[in-house]
Amino acid sequence: MRSDAIFIGVEVDDTVAHDTAVAAKLAEVCPVDIYAVEGGHTVLVEQNLDECVLCGLCLDAAPDGSVRVRCSESGAIQNWRPGPRAS
Ligand code: SF4
Repeated sequence: MRSDAIFIGVEVDDTVAHDTAVAAKLAEVCPVDIYAVEGGHTVLVEQNLDECVLCGLCLDAAPDGSVRVRCSESGAIQNWRPGPRAS
């Protein structure tokens, strides 16, 4: 699934979107409620997309590469991923 707003676009792989455990984690970690759970599946709350603070918590809550957040800058859509985490 994918949803795009003015500044932010979010994609979640369909196989992951139907995973109830991942759906619950995404809804829990996002500080601005971009993810919700409906019928055990992830849904994207479109009106909240541009509230994304690029924290990366959703990327960490889902299997590697299954969630993608794109931030548009200078008119271009760029892939975005947080830098390496400090250990
Ligand atoms: S990067 Fe942070 S604010 Fe943005 S969608 Fe993911 S969890 Fe929510």
